Amino acid sequence: MNNTFDIETHARTFRDKGPDEVLDFAYRNFDSIAISFSGAEDVVLVDMASRINPDLQVFSLDTGRLHIETYRFLEQVRERYNIRLEVLSPDTAQLEKFVSEKGLYSFYKDGHKECCGVRKIVPLRRKLHTVDAWITGQRKDQSPTRANVPVMEADAAFSTAGHTLYKFNPLANWTSEQVWTYIRENGVPYNELHNRGYISIGCEPCTRPVLPNQHERAGRWWWEEATRKECGLHAGNFGNRG
Ligand code: SF4
Repeated sequence: MNNTFDIETHARTFRDKGPDEVLDFAYRNFDSIAISFSGAEDVVLVDMASRINPDLQVFSLDTGRLHIETYRFLEQVRERYNIRLEVLSPDTAQLEKFVSEKGLYSFYKDGHKECCGVRKIVPLRRKLHTVDAWITGQRKDQSPTRANVPVMEADAAFSTAGHTLYKFNPLANWTSEQVWTYIRENGVPYNELHNRGYISIGCEPCTRPVLPNQHERAGRWWWEEATRKECGLHAGNFGNRG
């Protein structure tokens, strides 16, 4: 990647492009780039990227609270695509202190931010310091907080003074229906929880199936406001993109 990389111009050029073109662009411009795989339908990113770049960097955040089905799925994806899936754990001392002081379910009482901070954000930040760009499965149709997600951006939440981090959201313009059409047509493996009414999948205590016509993020942190449903991975979504 050269130092004159103008992400805003590229974002405008690719504004309406589909995932294949965005991914191809990302891999042509960055060597140090990793896919963040949550163990849900963002598996389509792994499938698409594996066709472009056989040497993928993929990581998942193991909060310690994922469904057993998700752990099994992570392994299925690792084997199917023959990738080195990096599974990131929370900092042991920080997690033990947090759980000792607040217990295992504090998020039901005072919100998910602190637990997500320990279990997701700290390990994510550690990982993102090692790359120049990352790839996420964010889509505009997922929630009010993601309605204006661009296909690529400078990551305001995780860049530092000396290190601009870029974020690619190749699925931004796709709908859930397009994702599932791709999964079916290409025989892509998927998390078995999707067969049981789960659409958006996160940690076990903070995820539940949704009813017909309910929004997919309604099953996440259901005790909190819809406009606050981000775990901090995409904190920039609370800025001017609302
Ligand atoms: S989703 Fe729930 S269990 Fe998982 S890290 Fe966040 S608050 Fe903790």
